Amino acid sequence: MGSPLKPRASILDISPYIPGKSTAGGRENVIKLSSNETPLGPSLKAVEAFSAAGSHLLRYPDGTAGNLRRAIGQVYGLDPARLVCGAGSDELLNLLAQAYLTPGDEAIYTEHGFLVYKIAILAAGGVPVVAPERGLTANVDEILAKVTERTRLVFIANPNNPTGTYLPVDEVKRLRAGLPDNVGLVLDGAYAEYVSANDYEAGIELVATTDNTIMTRTFSKIYGLAALRIGWMFAPEAVVDVINRIRGPFNVSSPAIEAGAAAICDTDHRDAAAAHNEEWLNWLSGELTALGLKVTPSVANFILVHFEQSGAKSADCANDYLLEQGIIVRQVTSYGLPHALRITIGSGDEMKAVAAALSDFMSMNEANA
Ligand SMILES: *Cc1c(COP(=O)(O)O)cnc(C)c1O
Repeated sequence: MGSPLKPRASILDISPYIPGKSTAGGRENVIKLSSNETPLGPSLKAVEAFSAAGSHLLRYPDGTAGNLRRAIGQVYGLDPARLVCGAGSDELLNLLAQAYLTPGDEAIYTEHGFLVYKIAILAAGGVPVVAPERGLTANVDEILAKVTERTRLVFIANPNNPTGTYLPVDEVKRLRAGLPDNVGLVLDGAYAEYVSANDYEAGIELVATTDNTIMTRTFSKIYGLAALRIGWMFAPEAVVDVINRIRGPFNVSSPAIEAGAAAICDTDHRDAAAAHNEEWLNWLSGELTALGLKVTPSVANFILVHFEQSGAKSADCANDYLLEQGIIVRQVTSYGLPHALRITIGSGDEMKAVAAALSDFMSMNEANA
């Protein structure tokens, strides 16, 4: 591009993250099921706290996000001194890569893992190393087989986006035990609140009992505050100290701190969102399976649906058809899944609409398609 300014070489290897679409050819009243947002929206208490904070925009926020860390600590039984808040968990994932990767160091993520990891690794000058998955699920042996002298970090979304699959707690512990001590294990629990499987644990115990495991969480999914950009991490004291040195001193805004604190304390609202999800996740998975579509079993608030590899019943054709009906889902070609679509669990009406549209799509014959 002919600029005399030269960024770190690996930055030009980054393909910019492409968010889920939010428009369908200028239509109004679209059904947006492309970014894993919650159909229930945020707690009203969070919205009130946000509005109240709007009368105090003159002052810098509390740079320690104290109210928010105390609220998280109270709800999850964690020491607030071991928490760091960020502008979304994406910021924290990037800060971890910046802090712990020296150019040339390797960081591992899995075949269909969340793409922010690759971006964060490359931005830090690190070398992304991809471990194969088995059955669209992260595999501990495959990850351990990728470890070298240069490995410094492993990123796992558990459950993973866009597959919706998860690693049971015993496997996560086996991974930690198999990794060298100087390799940080980052457990991204963006969807943890949705998981009801009893062999699942987001990572709190492992962070509490090891000195090299980090858990990140977000307010963007079950808490319905994606617009505010709030994430947090629970980490060993030394990691908290490192991240606090490099993060922006006011990286979380006052409205975000106050809304987040109110949201996390509204556990009834969170539980209602989880119950709604469980109901409609099961319902939609069942409906689409009955149409002859393959659905990867999901524990999160979205499902991965598989289509034919070519022809009129391909994922591309399904996506086009859904867009014509004003339904926006997520294409996941950039995740190495060109024949699948990811569909967020929305309201009951939205789920009925997407099931009806896919039923029509599946029953169209080739000539009409
Ligand atoms: C949505 C998502 C996040 C959340 O990112 P924020 O920056 O907190 O909005 C993190 N990890 C995964 C796997 C996600 O899908």
